[in-house]
Amino acid sequence: MEYIDICTPGGTLYVLDKFGIKARKKYGQNFLIDSNIVRKIISAAGITKEDCVLEIGPGIGTMTGMLSEAAGHVVAVEIDESLRPVLTETLAGRDNIDIIWNDVLKTDLREIADRHNGGRPMKVVANLPYYVTTPIIMKLLKEKGCFDSITVMVQKEVAERICSAPGNKNYGAITLAVKYYSEPEVVTDVSPNCFIPRPGVTSSVLCLKARDEAPVSADEKFLFAVIRASFNQRRKTIANGIVSGLEHGDTDKNITREDVQKCLSEMGLKEDVRGEKLSLEEFAELSEKLRNMR
Ligand code: SAM
Repeated sequence: MEYIDICTPGGTLYVLDKFGIKARKKYGQNFLIDSNIVRKIISAAGITKEDCVLEIGPGIGTMTGMLSEAAGHVVAVEIDESLRPVLTETLAGRDNIDIIWNDVLKTDLREIADRHNGGRPMKVVANLPYYVTTPIIMKLLKEKGCFDSITVMVQKEVAERICSAPGNKNYGAITLAVKYYSEPEVVTDVSPNCFIPRPGVTSSVLCLKARDEAPVSADEKFLFAVIRASFNQRRKTIANGIVSGLEHGDTDKNITREDVQKCLSEMGLKEDVRGEKLSLEEFAELSEKLRNMR
């Protein structure tokens, strides 16, 4: 292919037309066409030649090409095999990129870190497909030690939910989970005009720095069971949510509403408090109190 800058509206349209490709909604395809935004993402991620980067969803290779210049190695996982001829051409001549054709949710990411980075943590950079943002972020965060930072484009609304504080209407189980595993920060907002096709929403670049240690000390599995139950039905009080929402296998104790209310009042909280009012530290204290009861 003659040299075409694909990170422009004309370049992206040319490539899509040349390969007879239409952006596929079912895979959340919105291709970046603004090189300033790609540079901002790469700079926020602090990519250097020392880094091995995991890109999720390279699409037509726009960010992949720029990542390959900044990083030592790039491993890109793409679900849509119809993009194979496109990437073969747009990334031709670059020898530090491996493409894995698979659903990232079904990909063994630890094996990628082992094979491509000697088991050392990688950096994740992606313009995420919005239909599957939360499961991807949770999978990345739970692979402890695999990634030291995750810098991703998400819907602005998701970034706000992730970065919100207790008492905010957006605050929820995902806020607490992300905070448990990482320190989140919004880098910048991104207009729909920076993509082809234009998404229906504003986006944000979110940077999650992985924590070396959990910020609270609590049994992780039980803490997340309590958080999940507390937010199961938003209008329920925590006490009702926990009593009806803890599942078989979460605990072998028979936790009653009175038990939860007793713990809450010992913590100086109202007995009818709702999940969105509690900080991660308070959830950790509550879950440890419940776990050690009787
Ligand atoms: N990185 C490209 C860019 O910025 O122009 C494309 C970003 S587009 C928003 C999302 C990409 O993720 C698409 O290439 C899509 O095919 C891919 N994708 C969607 N679901 C995926 C999944 N489960 N696993 C891996 N890739 C996926």
